[in-house]
Amino acid sequence: MTVLLEWGAASDTGRLRDHNEDSVLAEPPVFVVADGMGGHAAGEVASALAVEAFRPLLGRRDLTVADVLGSVREANDSIRRAGDEDPSRAGMGTTLTGVALVRVAGDEHWLAFNVGDSRIYRLVDGRVVQISVDHSEIQELIDAGRLHPDEADRHPHRNVVTRSLGVLSAPEPDIWMFPPTPGERLLICSDGLSREITDDGISALLDQTRSSLEAAQTLVASAIAAGGRDNISVIVVDALADDQAEEGDTAPRGELW
Ligand code: CA
Repeated sequence: MTVLLEWGAASDTGRLRDHNEDSVLAEPPVFVVADGMGGHAAGEVASALAVEAFRPLLGRRDLTVADVLGSVREANDSIRRAGDEDPSRAGMGTTLTGVALVRVAGDEHWLAFNVGDSRIYRLVDGRVVQISVDHSEIQELIDAGRLHPDEADRHPHRNVVTRSLGVLSAPEPDIWMFPPTPGERLLICSDGLSREITDDGISALLDQTRSSLEAAQTLVASAIAAGGRDNISVIVVDALADDQAEEGDTAPRGELW
């Protein structure tokens, strides 16, 4: 079976930052968000290098897990090389979070991967489930039972990411695999969305919007309306059921593959 995808992406600087350090690559079979960090405009350099490492994979229906993990390594290596060449960019880094369609024993599977605190969610039966686990000091405190999730937004260490690209020689991404299911909707986002909108709010917006592009644009607009304190980047990918692939409604449609 070959799955039919529809996708849409949106990214915005938000209200408080003066530039956008997030980078997005949404082109099948790869959908990635990178949230850069580092002074002197280095954050957006790191995040752009990270997503560009996936460009050789675009358009392919035969990707393997090794191809995707190779691009994660190349993303890390290219950021470190750029930091070595320009000392003002030394120490720049980025999160890297995404999904790619890979082939395993002839069947297409989603490979989800994460380094850092950008997130992957999956909408199932009208509710979102977070697939990725944040690499953050807050998540470690929650896992250790030392912090309640409701207190996370006020914690002084809420910005500390414990794993990122560009810092170590070979950071390990977390990975998950699952078969694409017609009718499912995936969301990949930077923390500029997940810190402004609760999971329930994300669920409702994903469930109420018809096309992937409309969903991505609505989520970004909602995060800006809620404060827009950080850059906001969103990719929404729909694995279409047969009756969803038909033309005919007037909502803005994402692209098809
Ligand atoms: Ca961010």
